[in-house]
Amino acid sequence: MFGRARTGGGLSAPAECNVAVLGTTGSGKSALTVKFLTKRFITEYHPDLEDTYSSEETVDQQPVIVRVMDTADQDGPVGCERYLGWASAFLVVYSIAERHTFDGCQPYLEVVTLHSRPETPQPPLILLGNKVDMERYRQVSRCEGVALASRYGGLFFEVSACRDFLPVQQVFHEAVREARRE
Ligand code: GDP
Ligand code: MG
Repeated sequence: MFGRARTGGGLSAPAECNVAVLGTTGSGKSALTVKFLTKRFITEYHPDLEDTYSSEETVDQQPVIVRVMDTADQDGPVGCERYLGWASAFLVVYSIAERHTFDGCQPYLEVVTLHSRPETPQPPLILLGNKVDMERYRQVSRCEGVALASRYGGLFFEVSACRDFLPVQQVFHEAVREARRE
């Protein structure tokens, strides 16, 4: 959850933001996570590896500890309790060049939106089309991405984990901004 811990002296410790990265295997979740944390593109990452990383960031001049859970579901959102209660924002990732990864977003969008209780605001949700460097092989149009995101009340971006760092950083920072608004 997004929170600001108070310390004994009345000073606030840096806020924290937990971001869960969800989506079908092969969409580029690990590549995006590693890019955000190290500014580097790792071509091959073990597909079954799931881990949570932490990074001290400054978003709009305010420090924040961003924790990123790079999930590795084998078969859709099974065992999703591990991130549903934990996350203050969700990134649902697909590859614009692999239609099945776009189709695979739906169950994640469903569980994230169903999980939120009516009395509490839904944690921010970002739908992310990855691999825009593969434009020639595009199978999912930008319009389809925009439409799906808006159906679930989410934001939408397209990026590439193997291109510039800043657009990738921007997505994670946007998740923090959205979580701060809640
Ligand atoms: P995950 O299963 O969602 O964690 O996906 P990975 O991060 O392991 O990436 C799956 C495959 O897609 C790997 O071969 C990556 O090198 C590749 N990949 C990831 N992001 C990009 C990208 O932005 N562009 C291209 N061309 N390949 C990517
Ligand atoms: Mg992975």
